[in-house]
Amino acid sequence: MKIAIAKEVEVSERRVALVPDVVARLVKQGLEIWVEAGAGERAFFPNAAYEAAGATVISDPATLWGEADVVLKVGLPQEREDGQLEIDLLREGSVLIGFLNPLGNPVLMQRLAERQVTALSMELIPRTSRAQSMDALSSQAGVAGYQAVLIAAAALPKFFPMLTTAAGTIAPAKVFVLGAGVAGLQAIATARRLGAVVEAFDIRPAVKEEVQSLGAKFVEVPLEEDTVAEGGYAKEVSEAAKQRTQAVIAEHIKQSDAVITTAQVPGKKAPLLVTAEMVAQMKPGSVVVDLAAEQGGNCACTEAGKDVVWQGVTIIGPMNLPSFIPIHASQMYAKNISTLVQYLIKDGGLQLDFADDIVNSACVTHEGTIRNERVRNALASEQVIEGRV
Ligand code: NAD
Repeated sequence: MKIAIAKEVEVSERRVALVPDVVARLVKQGLEIWVEAGAGERAFFPNAAYEAAGATVISDPATLWGEADVVLKVGLPQEREDGQLEIDLLREGSVLIGFLNPLGNPVLMQRLAERQVTALSMELIPRTSRAQSMDALSSQAGVAGYQAVLIAAAALPKFFPMLTTAAGTIAPAKVFVLGAGVAGLQAIATARRLGAVVEAFDIRPAVKEEVQSLGAKFVEVPLEEDTVAEGGYAKEVSEAAKQRTQAVIAEHIKQSDAVITTAQVPGKKAPLLVTAEMVAQMKPGSVVVDLAAEQGGNCACTEAGKDVVWQGVTIIGPMNLPSFIPIHASQMYAKNISTLVQYLIKDGGLQLDFADDIVNSACVTHEGTIRNERVRNALASEQVIEGRV
């Protein structure tokens, strides 16, 4: 079975789907690995490192995409520089795995189904303990949480740690993390390592202990309603709860030098936690880094992909943070995606057992159909908007 590592078309995507160490392990297990020439370059893995690991470097994308049994990517199939669409290069019956953002791209999913491609989306791997080693959303969110703090520290016109020097004592920076899921917990840990005093808030009271174990203070907002949905995820809360949490957040934000926002409710627009009025109350020079920028932002002043300075406060809405740390982000992603591939291999070939919740959740298209109901619904609404039905 030929497994191909495709080069990411977008130059802003510096990650690669498999790193040479992982390739060596797969080759040892008898798999044939092809790598598109230059696929690892932006993550500092040269072609020679893949060859040394036992992969074959392929220069012609049409050969790689058209003859592989499985194509591994980080992002979506794209239009190449020569105008060729990667999706058109895939052969019938092949398998494509990557962060395909199926709900955001239902038309692309339809096209994959029409081309008889089996597509598995890394975003749809369930966040369960059984699937933990394949959970690329979590591994990459951890990278993002770390990088968000480095961005905040670099933008803040202050030190993060307390310093006792001959030139006087410097007080530590105060960091407030909103949302203590995967990215938030890594942000807390990173800010603590840099010496900041950290507070955190999350709508799920269960994370209190984890926050405290990282050396941060948990900001509590007693609410009368249940905030946890099935599977342990946060629920969208009522208007009254929103107002109550916002009032508490406002009090803590006033005192903070840096605010890192990471709140999300699966499948919904990011909850608005930081209003423009709250930003106006922050000290001049303070920084907000909004990880939810691409989902609409947790802060009212956020613009995705931009740094906005408003009333002396810098609001940063970074995109694709894992790509800032391409070596380790790729290493972690490679572990996740290779575990999935190995999980699917039975008797020398890929076998999809739809009775298995990992396979059933991750597989978006198979044998000409879109299997995922939410993607089918998203496609239907897009077609209605375009007047096609
Ligand atoms: P997660 O689901 O693990 O954590 C989100 C947390 O937000 C949960 O703990 C949840 O309880 C909390 N939350 C939900 N509603 C809230 C509310 N109203 N108030 C307070 N807390 C609330 O998600 P994650 O994997 O940590 O990702 C966090 C965010 O970071 C997402 O928006 C994700 O898309 C984004 N992200 C951005 C990048 C980037 O490069 N910019 C990369 C990875 C992840």
